[in-house]
Parts: sequence; structure tokens; C-alpha cells
Amino acid sequence: MSKTIAIDGPSASGKSSVSKGVAAELGFIYVDSGALYRGVTWQAVRKGVDVTNAEAVVNLLHDSDWDFFIQDGASTFSIDGDVPVQELREKEVRENVAHVAVIPEIRKFVVESLQSLEHFGSLVMEGRDIGTVVFPDSPYKFYLDADPEERAMRRYRELVAAGESEKAEEVMESLKKRDKIDSTRKVDPLTVAPGAQVIDSTSMSLEEVIQTVVNFVRAD
Ligand code: C5P
Repeated sequence: MSKTIAIDGPSASGKSSVSKGVAAELGFIYVDSGALYRGVTWQAVRKGVDVTNAEAVVNLLHDSDWDFFIQDGASTFSIDGDVPVQELREKEVRENVAHVAVIPEIRKFVVESLQSLEHFGSLVMEGRDIGTVVFPDSPYKFYLDADPEERAMRRYRELVAAGESEKAEEVMESLKKRDKIDSTRKVDPLTVAPGAQVIDSTSMSLEEVIQTVVNFVRAD
């Protein structure tokens, strides 16, 4: 029987690396749910639609053609035939995505799309509301956290490695801003799902966190 592992947590808590590692070890499909919110945002940006105008963003979504498929063990999508990957990480998308993610119709589209991915097989899905909203009945729910300073440092190192030149203080500020919007928004705020295993990764290695999740799932 296929299984779905939900991994939630704030920005830069290590969700992506952990989820990819768990998916690779268990042979499950990796799903980055934030990519869908980023995809809607990217589409708005490239079409020149104001992301603070919810109606315009929703209309644009209705006019766009999304297709989901599996590539290299991960769920991927095209929008109007284009497959955005690096584009989803651009600064403009990063800075606007939290606005798009508060629009209820957009969340409904993303949640339903994510739920439909189960037909592809066993999943490891990372996000903010996977254990609370998308797959609340999953017996494999995790909430990853780490101290804000540690998360800011991790994000900063990622950006530097990607050749971006943001200042460490700016990264900290933008992370704080995003945490605040994500955890105080009215629709599906970031919270620990009932029954979720909370893992504080501040002083754990990536491998230790991956093994904690894998052992829990295998012990079932
Ligand atoms: O995980 P990532 O940083 O790519 O997510 C981008 C944004 O998408 C988050 O800041 C949040 O606003 C939104 N998001 C969400 N629910 C999810 C995943 C992402 O609201 N399950």
C-alpha cells in the first residue's frame, strides 16, 4: 500500500534536504508543495499581474494550463507548456509568494493538486500545511524546526552557493517577514499538526534527521 509522509516547518528548517533524503532512501516520490505556490507566483510575475490583486491572480490561474508528471523521482509541473525550475527560486518570486499563498482559491487549487498526486505512488511531501490540511490522516506527520539564527545561516549559505549576493542581515529579515506572514495568516497558517512528530534540527546533522524520519516510517 502506498504511503504519504508529510513534512512541515518554517522556511529554511531543512525540510527540502530532509524530504529529498527520505524520498531517496525509501524510493518514494519527492513533492515540493511550495513550488506550486511559487509556480502561481511566477506565472503572475511573467504575465505582469499584480500579486496583491487576488482576483487577477485567480483569473490568471483559471486561464493557465497546468500538467503534473514525475521526473527523476520528483513531482514536477508545466504551466502552459513551460517547466519552471530555476525560475521558481528567483528573487521576485521569493518576495511575492507569501502574498499569493494567502489567497483562498489559490490554496484550494494547490491543496487539491497535491492530493491528486497520491495516484502516482508513495510520496514525501514538504510544506507548511501538509499534515494539517493536505493529508491530515497520514500516520507519518513531521514538523521540522530550528532556531531562527540557524535557519537564516542555512538560507544564507544556500543563496551564496547559488551565486546570489544578499547580505546575511537581509536574509534574516526576509525570513522573519515570511515566517510572520505564514504563521499569522487566516487560511491554513503554519502550525504543528495534531499527532505530528516534532524534530528540532538545530544541532542535528542532516543525516540524523533523515534517519529519524526513515526509522519512524519503517518501524510501522
Ligand atoms: O517552501 P517554500 O519556501 O518554497 O514555500 C514558498 C511559500 O509558499 C511559503 O513562504 C508559503 O507562503 C507558501 N507555502 C504554503 N503552504 C505550503 C508550502 C508553501 O503556504 N504547503
